[in-house]
Amino acid sequence: MTTTNGHVANAQTPVENVIIIGSGPAGFTAGLYAARANLSPLLLTGNDYGGQVSITYDIENYPGFPESLSGPELVEKFKAQAEKFGTRVEFDYVKEIVIDQHPFIVRTENGAEYRTRTIIVSTGARPRYLEVPGEKLLTGKGVSYCATCDGFFFRGKDVLVIGGGDSAAEEAIFLTRYASRVRILHRRDKLRASKILQDRVLANEKIEMVWNTVVTEVVGENGAVSGVKTQNTVTGEEGFLTTDGVFIFVGHLPNNDLFPGKLEMDEDGHLITDRKLRTNVPGIFAAGEIQDKVFKQVATSVGQGCAAAMSATRFLEELEAGHAIDWRTDPREFATPHTAALA
Ligand code: NAP
Repeated sequence: MTTTNGHVANAQTPVENVIIIGSGPAGFTAGLYAARANLSPLLLTGNDYGGQVSITYDIENYPGFPESLSGPELVEKFKAQAEKFGTRVEFDYVKEIVIDQHPFIVRTENGAEYRTRTIIVSTGARPRYLEVPGEKLLTGKGVSYCATCDGFFFRGKDVLVIGGGDSAAEEAIFLTRYASRVRILHRRDKLRASKILQDRVLANEKIEMVWNTVVTEVVGENGAVSGVKTQNTVTGEEGFLTTDGVFIFVGHLPNNDLFPGKLEMDEDGHLITDRKLRTNVPGIFAAGEIQDKVFKQVATSVGQGCAAAMSATRFLEELEAGHAIDWRTDPREFATPHTAALA
């Protein structure tokens, strides 16, 4: 073991080859590939072990599992396979990275400090809030962002699902197992969700669509959700819907708190990488939803985790071979000598 849990790194602290930040599909796949390259990677899980997939009830579209499996089951398989080849998994949360020196420094909530030659960032994304009055106050009291976690508490009750994407559609279908009535409120008159999910939603007798409608406030009574104030996006007409639960699925935000001023991000806060999953800092790679705002599938995150680990492996080979690396040069500019070697 080369972890330094509870210790501050110094010149004697062993230098890790690869530290992976995050334990979703991208992180565990990066671990698997880095471990099979004999790099003995260290994976720091973060607080949301398994990432978003761990709160998904049923995964039907991850290849190799035609019978489908639950998110937690898939996470355990990812972890077991990564550990089988030597990935070290620590249940710890990274609170700071120091990347203006090499080896880089990674500091964690548990007080550990690591030195590392490369970092693979796979911190994923979290649910976006509606940001309307009452939402925060009533979270856990009828407002939820996870049907798998909370659906059970709404047996025989009335619930609203907010959003029109795959998450809203999938979770609305899941909620029909428990709730007596599920209404999907969507701000347009057409769902964004994939065709197969749209068809299932529209054919489900327990689901009603409320088109062209946004929530302007979540209202509570005796400390629990009692309804929502609404507005029609076409007519501007205001309304009120009585309900017991509000499940919000209006997209995701990248978990980028560690990176402002350190790694380059786009206007939505995703890390910017090139095709080889390189960030603007040599030796730092990113995979999964922290850098992907287009595909956001388990299958694509897995592919990106694999690619990031392969790029990190190539980078370490260059270091080992003594090839000069210009630490001030953005590796995504293909003309630099060390990226040419990686290409
Ligand atoms: P998403 O695709 O970004 O959809 C978000 C939905 O919320 C959209 O319908 C959007 O409306 C609506 N919305 C956004 N802000 C809103 C606001 N302030 N008020 C009301 N409505 C608002 O997010 P997602 O459904 O979480 O999916 C994220 C990604 O994961 C997607 O790439 C999706 O394909 C993927 N995913 C896949 C599966 C699957 O394959 N089974 C399951 C879950 C998620 P507009 O449509 O008008 O923009």
